[in-house]
Amino acid sequence: SAKSRGKNNFAFFTSSMNTEVQNRLELENDLRSAMENKQLKLYYQPLFSSLDNRVVGAEALLRWQHPKKGFISPDAFIPVAEQTGLIHTLGEWVIETACEQVKRWQQHSRVDLYCAVNISGVQLLNRNLPENIKAITDRHQLTAGNLHIELTETALLTNEEDASNILEELHAQGIDIWMDDFGTGYSSLSFLKKFCAQGVKVDKSFIHDMETDEDSRGIVKAVIAMAKSLNLRITAEGLETASQVEQLREYGCDNLQGYYLARPMPAEQLSEMMIRLPELFKPFNTNSVSEK
Ligand code: C2E
Ligand code: MG
Ligand code: MG
Ligand code: MG
Repeated sequence: SAKSRGKNNFAFFTSSMNTEVQNRLELENDLRSAMENKQLKLYYQPLFSSLDNRVVGAEALLRWQHPKKGFISPDAFIPVAEQTGLIHTLGEWVIETACEQVKRWQQHSRVDLYCAVNISGVQLLNRNLPENIKAITDRHQLTAGNLHIELTETALLTNEEDASNILEELHAQGIDIWMDDFGTGYSSLSFLKKFCAQGVKVDKSFIHDMETDEDSRGIVKAVIAMAKSLNLRITAEGLETASQVEQLREYGCDNLQGYYLARPMPAEQLSEMMIRLPELFKPFNTNSVSEK
């Protein structure tokens, strides 16, 4: 009968809702203990200059190897970290760890590169973020150019005014601000100015579809033309084939990134690459800072 069906539907609804809430709670607890027990790691994906094909930077990407559930994607746990406020501690750990690593590469591998760190919009709600970041770069004696931050446009929409103030402060500290996943969000010109962006990363979905879909190719070209007219730098992300690399180099992208060139890897693996393929890296010399 309709009545019993209704009842069943109700029972189904509540139990599936409970499961969802339970999963989320479990993920939250797991994330807390993962942070305490150092189950989180940073991988680094090289960014190549299209001018000389050398590695100019490395994007830090969070990796979580759960002891029972295996690998959990940042796309799954970053939202939980945002909703619970854990993102503040986690985000600063990411910046600290990445800066420490860059210093190590300068000192032990004699390689000069910057780290690019992804920042969540929620982190921009913290007014202390600029001074906390300053304390980190100072502690590791890095110049501000050694740290780039990557933000998505949607991350900025919730609290535009505060976000733009904080980004202005970071910009004044000399930190490069890049718009990530560019083309998927709001993407207006005034937006880029307002948030002090120095560069855009063309979203990998357009790159992926470029060869089969004329509209995607059109978007890629339009984004590049627009960024150039604003004197912004451009990174193409998600390059998976030789022909994509060739094409985006031709379009005038400054930086290239993607599985075809190098996958995200543990710091040790990138260190080994520095020994094996030194011609791919920019040498760091201690005088280079004072020479400028
Ligand atoms: P994102 O910043 O846009 O990073 C690019 C994503 O594309 C990364 O996924 C990277 O591993 C992947 N990727 C790189 N090259 C290729 C390629 O050639 N093909 C394909 N298909 N994918 C490629 P990942 O590591 O799973 O990270 C996903 C997202 O999670 C990131 O997107 C970023 O928004 C977020 N995320 C990662 N680490 C952090 C972090 O430390 N803090 C914050 N707030 N977000 C982070
Ligand atoms: Mg990114
Ligand atoms: Mg991206
Ligand atoms: Mg993304």
